[in-house]
Amino acid sequence: MRKLLTGAFVALPAAVLPAALAPAASPASGAAPGRPDLAALVTVRDAEAHLRAFQEIADYNGGNRAAGTPGYDVSVNYVAGRLRKAGLTPTIQKFSYPYWAERSDAVLARTAPSRASYRLGDDFVTLAYSGAGDVTAPVTAVDLPARGEGTSGCEKDDFRSFRKGSIALVQRGTCTFETKADRARAAGASAVVVFNGPGERGPVRGTVNRPAALPVVGPSHAVGVALARAAARGGGLRLRVRTDTVQGRRTTSNVIADTEQGRADNVVLLGAHLDSVPDGPGINDNGTGAAALLAIAAKIEKLGDAGLRNRVRFAFWGAEEEGLRGSAHYVTSLPQSRRRQIALNLNFDMLGSSNGVRGVYDGDGSSRAGVRGPAGSGAIERMFRRYFAGRRLPTAESEFNGRSDYGPFIEHGIPSGGIETGADGVKTAAEAKAFGGRAGKVYDPCYHSRCDRLRNVDLKLLDTSLDGVAYVTQHLARTTVAVNGGARLGAVRTPSSGLDRRGPYLVR
Ligand SMILES: [Zn+2]
Repeated sequence: MRKLLTGAFVALPAAVLPAALAPAASPASGAAPGRPDLAALVTVRDAEAHLRAFQEIADYNGGNRAAGTPGYDVSVNYVAGRLRKAGLTPTIQKFSYPYWAERSDAVLARTAPSRASYRLGDDFVTLAYSGAGDVTAPVTAVDLPARGEGTSGCEKDDFRSFRKGSIALVQRGTCTFETKADRARAAGASAVVVFNGPGERGPVRGTVNRPAALPVVGPSHAVGVALARAAARGGGLRLRVRTDTVQGRRTTSNVIADTEQGRADNVVLLGAHLDSVPDGPGINDNGTGAAALLAIAAKIEKLGDAGLRNRVRFAFWGAEEEGLRGSAHYVTSLPQSRRRQIALNLNFDMLGSSNGVRGVYDGDGSSRAGVRGPAGSGAIERMFRRYFAGRRLPTAESEFNGRSDYGPFIEHGIPSGGIETGADGVKTAAEAKAFGGRAGKVYDPCYHSRCDRLRNVDLKLLDTSLDGVAYVTQHLARTTVAVNGGARLGAVRTPSSGLDRRGPYLVR
């Protein structure tokens, strides 16, 4: 999953906490005296045992646990088995999703008026769900803005004088890549080159979200501007765009299990994606989140009827890395009456990043980056913050941008929250001061790569992450009054579409 925003970092040492945030119970404990304490019952050793299992599954199944592979299916069996052992009755929910992969390296090159080739990875990448093709053709610039973001390729009108068969040169911004690619295709483009916006670094790591019929590549802003200038000079700019992709449909599954106790009409849903990327075993991303859920599921019954007034649902999502496919399928396929029974969603994706921070999803939108979650999301954020502050553990804001499986929930108006310890974002100096680790380096140097193995996980950070997950779960299992007033949601809100991410990919 996603990167942390770095601007609005907030450390909350307990000494400077406003009184309203001071912890109610003893700092280390989520429970009142005499009540079981889930944070103490769930240990990092429990989680580590699951991480070892995920590692072994990957090691003997091609090195990964990606959707549609044996490593994923064996992970599903493992999770279902552990849930049964915990006394729960898991269901395996199958679904199909559009599959996409690149078979060989893409090419972007200028063939006229002079030749130049661009470097894959640094200068450009293929957008996810790009079609396949090998096109050499003239370039038509499409409503490129003189400055700023602009609406290049968003409107049908932008293509009024488009030369059929040419390559559409558009700039990222305003509408989705999907819209730009669709409009270009409708206008007869042979390929789409969508370059990054001003101020954005590197190529466009985006998705056209559903299989496209033509090649779509995303160069950096610098490359795009150079191409735009060359096109404007009118010297017969031609490009070669080659993408070698496969598209199709695949079937994979989610694993879902409910506690027997608790109100079925006020469900506390804990989710974590179970799949890895094809490039590695995915032990931090997201073995840690899945292990946290399993560790909690094994002990949740100890809360008893008094502690489990609300039903707790454990969901292990498939195909998150392909664009949140499992969680989106789950949320959209639920009948509205059952969707309204979900009080809230807690999402856990990467809980032990080796250069990590303790990021809490910014549900109240106070960081002004990302979106503001549905009402109640801010209360969940404060529950995590208050717990960690009580233990004098610093926290950071994690941008609420839909980059993980809570995205489909907040799009349906379901309050959401959770924690994460960082993906491919870069640690700031202030964060290094508060959390240790190395400033200027990414939170998880093994993000989406082969080295995301057991030894990539910071078990100390995982330990406190797990405590926070357990504390907030225990609180919400007893009462969701702070989030939804304790009642099922009355109104079903219109889905919001302000999210800019779908799994690891940008959508706009
Ligand atoms: Zn992830």
